[in-house]
Amino acid sequence: MAKHFAVAGGGWAGFAAAVELARAGHQVSVFEAARTLGGRARRVSFDGRELDNGQHIMLGAYAATLRLMRTVGVDLRAAVLTLPLQMRYPPASGGMDFVAPRLPAPLHVGIALLRARGLARADKMALARFSTTARWMGWTLNNDCSVSELLERFDQTPRMVALMWRPLCLAALNTPPERASAQVFLAVLRDSLGANRAASDMLVPRTDLSALFPDAAAAWLKAQGHAVHLGAKVNALRPDDAAGAWHVEASGLPASRFDGVVLAASPSASAALLATLPDTAALAAQLGGFAPEPITTCYLQYAAGTRLAIPFYALLDEPASARWGQFVFDRGQLDAKQDGLFAVVISASGEAANLPQDALAAAIAAQLAADLGRPELANPSWFKVITEKRATYACTPGLLRPANKTALPGLVLAGDYTAGDYPATLEMAVRSGLQAARDLARP
Ligand SMILES: Cc1cc2nc3c(=O)[nH]c(=O)nc-3n(C[C@H](O)[C@H](O)[C@H](O)COP(=O)(O)OP(=O)(O)OC[C@H]3O[C@@H](n4cnc5c(N)ncnc54)[C@H](O)[C@@H]3O)c2cc1C
Repeated sequence: MAKHFAVAGGGWAGFAAAVELARAGHQVSVFEAARTLGGRARRVSFDGRELDNGQHIMLGAYAATLRLMRTVGVDLRAAVLTLPLQMRYPPASGGMDFVAPRLPAPLHVGIALLRARGLARADKMALARFSTTARWMGWTLNNDCSVSELLERFDQTPRMVALMWRPLCLAALNTPPERASAQVFLAVLRDSLGANRAASDMLVPRTDLSALFPDAAAAWLKAQGHAVHLGAKVNALRPDDAAGAWHVEASGLPASRFDGVVLAASPSASAALLATLPDTAALAAQLGGFAPEPITTCYLQYAAGTRLAIPFYALLDEPASARWGQFVFDRGQLDAKQDGLFAVVISASGEAANLPQDALAAAIAAQLAADLGRPELANPSWFKVITEKRATYACTPGLLRPANKTALPGLVLAGDYTAGDYPATLEMAVRSGLQAARDLARP
């Protein structure tokens, strides 16, 4: 029998749950506190420019996300730029050039290694050893440890750590290798270095992040008669007398009764809502205990036509020398409206985010000018620094993440923080939303 469910939170997890529930024949109402959909992956506007709250990248292995995007009518060929797995530093910056050719796995990595520039034989042997041993171990560990420990155990060279493992760990887990979970890192590597070629592809959004999925999902839902409320912060969830039913109190809307609720807010916002409910003190404390990890994106505007040779480069970061940038993206190669706009990403950016924004932007511009050998890049005409203080949770060894189901009938959790083998990513959020929908519809 069709039921009416509420989804509290219009991020990627919330919309994954909403679309899945609608596809199962249920009625859905989404409540989003903000005026823009997408949560931690959304469009933002500054000075008349449409940007994202942070540069994102996806993998071909994001199967659930890509499937759902297609379901709600997103044309993937137009929406993302698909690139082969790569870690390319600007020539002459002292880095390396590693690009996986379009060949079946594991040949793509083998050939990439043979062709890679900027690596000594010992570095290449170390990467080959890593990939063979990890594959042999099934990409799993009996006991989780830090990524640094894993790299030491696998006898990785300092150059391989600096040029490949550290940047990959920061980009994927938003946690430095010394504090990051080796088990979660291996799961990401399984689906990139260790996976078939298409799964290891890197997908860079061409549209803004709200348009990439949440806006399309909202339009798809509304076209079928479902409700999406913006600016509707859920202030309270109250259990109904009938087991499994809930009353939702949201800003600007009359309280209404639902047959169940997907709580798809961030861990801290979910903890605040759970704290008022019976029998959820331990769960609320667990969610409140996730340590936030920031990401900073610095947008730099240059003259129209200013281009990188490729859509994105890895950068050699060295905070001690005020070299903060870890990756630079040429937005103009992705979206013609962003001609001359570069986005520089700093993951686990606690230290950088404490700097005055103009000092950080100036340091990043100087880093680009030096690494790319182009003095004009030191002088952008405009910049914007965006720090998401709670971009993700620190993905530490042995971190306990809650199941989607809660002890309360009719209330399930969805978000990038629930149990799963991926770190806080779009794919984890989407998988969690799908699971939450299944748990709610078939308790
Ligand atoms: C700068 C940055 C860069 C990132 N880079 C990548 C990347 O390259 N690749 C990748 O895969 N992932 C990346 N991520 C992570 C990814 O964005 C997140 O894992 C994902 O967006 C989390 O989605 P979610 O739905 O679980 O949570 P959220 O996005 O936090 O969604 C929760 C939603 O609930 C709403 N909400 C909160 N409280 C309430 C309430 N009381 N009532 C109603 N609504 C409420 C919020 O406004 C929000 O819209 C990045 C994140 C950031 C911030």
